[in-house]
Amino acid sequence: MSRFCNPKLASLEAYTPGEQPQDRTYIKLNTNESPYPPSKGVRKAVAKATVDRLRLYCDPNATALKKKLAELYGAELSEVFISNGSDDILNFAFLAFGADGILFPDISYGFYEVFANLHGLPFQKVALKEDFSIEVNDYCGKGKMVVIANPNAPTGRTLTLEEIEKLLKANPDNVVLIDEAYVDFGGESCVGLTKKYANLLCVQTFSKSRSMAGARLGFAIGAPELIADLEKIKYSTNPYNVNTLTQAVGLAALQENEYYMDSCKRIIKSRAYTKKQLEKLGFSVIPSQANFLFAKSEKIGGMELYVKLKEKGVLVRHFEKDRIRDYNRITIGSQKQMQALITAIKEILGAC
Ligand SMILES: *Cc1c(COP(=O)(O)O)cnc(C)c1O
Repeated sequence: MSRFCNPKLASLEAYTPGEQPQDRTYIKLNTNESPYPPSKGVRKAVAKATVDRLRLYCDPNATALKKKLAELYGAELSEVFISNGSDDILNFAFLAFGADGILFPDISYGFYEVFANLHGLPFQKVALKEDFSIEVNDYCGKGKMVVIANPNAPTGRTLTLEEIEKLLKANPDNVVLIDEAYVDFGGESCVGLTKKYANLLCVQTFSKSRSMAGARLGFAIGAPELIADLEKIKYSTNPYNVNTLTQAVGLAALQENEYYMDSCKRIIKSRAYTKKQLEKLGFSVIPSQANFLFAKSEKIGGMELYVKLKEKGVLVRHFEKDRIRDYNRITIGSQKQMQALITAIKEILGAC
């Protein structure tokens, strides 16, 4: 039995991460990880990983890493926040800026609702349109924090920068958090708008496009006042939330940024291939600017396809939720993995 004294915590529904099975090797297309390894410099950074330094606390300000990020994104040091995965930033930002209530889409990243509940914040899930696009007007002038993943997950659909500017202008007294976990796969980043709009917090991660989900590194760019608020929360929980090794590999990765942008290009190519193949097999596929596709078939249910693919050693992500239970979210892996996926689907459909 739970020993929570707080009824809100007792009834809290935690986030369910995608499976990370340890029993056998799968073609893993379920958690939007990169199929490509980190760059050479990351390997070197780990090899010479300053083992001796592990006895010391890490730099709580992650200065070197912040400087490099600031340089890369044209920001000041005071406009950059670094954290243990971008989930940490979302957590802090909900706590910091969500007291007046929070708006986010009904179909989006599952953690938004979890963080709102964790902190006991009022929130409203705004329905996506029938085609899973976002109606920007629904988020304008409501006096609440706005949280939108762009591209959205699990749909892969995007908002334009003009639409984001509309959100920023219509909510001057509230924070607009744009979660750009997938932006490197073809979306337009709003980082450049942070200088103009003091209410914009742009959040990114090393987990998807930079092949480092296991290192846990995320960052946010926004006006110094917003960043200072996040720092206050970080320094009130765990100032050392980005460890020495992660700071080292993060810095090494940024020094080889081109390698990662090339990996993204390969993924974009495989995405186009996979979409075409799925459509040939009769799937409806939502247009995606992310490293995954959201697809459904008239011939087989979402859950059934997920189960049958798993039996064949291919893992995809299925959400047993209203509106989307017919779909599966398929991460774009290597070209070879995507060919294997298509072969497996052909076998499954042939047999049903
Ligand atoms: C994967 C993901 C994150 C979290 O990434 P981490 O940096 O690994 O914590 C945040 N937002 C969205 C929409 C994601 O898909």
